Amino acid sequence: MEKVKKIDVIGGGPVGLLFALFNASKNLSISIHERLSKNDLTIQNKALALSHSTIDVLNKFDIKPNQATGFIPISKIHTSQKGSFGRAILSLNENTPIGFVIKYGDLVSVLLEKVCKNSFIELSFSKEIKKVNFSSNNFEDNDGHKNNYDFIVFSDGIGNLLTDKFTFHTHDDFDNLFGLVAEVDSELNHNNVAYERFTPDGPMALLPIDDYRKSTLIWTGEKKKVDRLLALGDTEFKYMFLKNFGERLGSLKLVNHKKIFPLRHQYLNSTALENILVLGNAAHSMHPVAGQGFNLTVRDLNSFNMILEGNKSLLDDQVLNLYQDARRKEMISLMQITSGLVKGFSNNYFGINKLRSIGLNLLDNNAFLKKEFISRFSYGKD
Ligand SMILES: Cc1cc2nc3c(=O)[nH]c(=O)nc-3n(C[C@H](O)[C@H](O)[C@H](O)COP(=O)(O)OP(=O)(O)OC[C@H]3O[C@@H](n4cnc5c(N)ncnc54)[C@H](O)[C@@H]3O)c2cc1C
Repeated sequence: MEKVKKIDVIGGGPVGLLFALFNASKNLSISIHERLSKNDLTIQNKALALSHSTIDVLNKFDIKPNQATGFIPISKIHTSQKGSFGRAILSLNENTPIGFVIKYGDLVSVLLEKVCKNSFIELSFSKEIKKVNFSSNNFEDNDGHKNNYDFIVFSDGIGNLLTDKFTFHTHDDFDNLFGLVAEVDSELNHNNVAYERFTPDGPMALLPIDDYRKSTLIWTGEKKKVDRLLALGDTEFKYMFLKNFGERLGSLKLVNHKKIFPLRHQYLNSTALENILVLGNAAHSMHPVAGQGFNLTVRDLNSFNMILEGNKSLLDDQVLNLYQDARRKEMISLMQITSGLVKGFSNNYFGINKLRSIGLNLLDNNAFLKKEFISRFSYGKD
């Protein structure tokens, strides 16, 4: 492979932007092609929980987690299941948040600010790539232009541009799962606690997105259930929430911006080939129960950059192979944990509720287990 001087990136979501920040330099220019307009990209209000490993990486680009830019600290993670008293509370010491929450659009905005200041990155909005011709190394955009590429990165989320050059490992059990996302105001102050609640119909989570009573609700389950929740009027929705989540935050005062997403649980068997690299959701997509999809990718990006630097910035087969070898184990292990959590808690077999309740209490009372759990989700240790 000749020395790569330019990379084309398809998809300017958080992963495409962060990849560009990591790798753009006077020897390597990056061109990002994003389908959405800037406004549509930055108004998305899905909340992302960010782990310490992600915050450490953002710090490298002088992005500090402060409230002015929309980062909300998480003081504790409260995990419980419907129909039992078992629960576990995970936290670090009093003054150290266990993670941060930020709205997707706010995260994109802080990354865009850095990208726009980098003269080695070019970014086009409202530019959809319609087709990639792998054999002739070019792609076509929505204006009908054909562009040649030296090296191409797919960070197009669940896009549809990858051909059968790439094969997915999929999980049929997750085919019919959806997530409902809404912004809610609760009666009681959330005290910066993130809640995770397992119900037989699927897990739900609440992430604080201000300092008082506003949270983002993610409620997952089979399509039929999620469609029904979406169609409910305000009163019935609030009632269903209370019935499933319990009263720890009182009743809901407001429910806004309800939206549903299909959930996928799949990963590519190989994420890099010749002059192609696939990143983020396009490479691995997991149920949001553990809030790990983006955090895992940030660790992928960090690892890729370190390997590339170790190879004197020469982007060749060796870098792509080393990168895949370095990241496969953690990715598969997280996919398994996530799927285990969803399936393990989403059933009501006789006696199992009690067992799970004991498990949660065990976790809550065992300092070593707690430390291991926090470490894995904060820093991705495998
Ligand atoms: C409900 C929910 C909650 C989640 N919560 C968390 C969490 O708490 N913590 C966490 O770590 N992760 C979480 N995730 C996962 C996280 O959202 C993803 O890991 C992350 O968004 C992946 O970013 P991405 O840039 O790869 O893809 P995306 O965010 O999907 O971005 C892809 C971009 O590519 C653009 N694009 C697509 N096709 C084309 C094309 N043909 N041409 C040009 N542009 C194109 C799209 O417009 C989009 O802007 C959650 C996911 C869901 C669904």
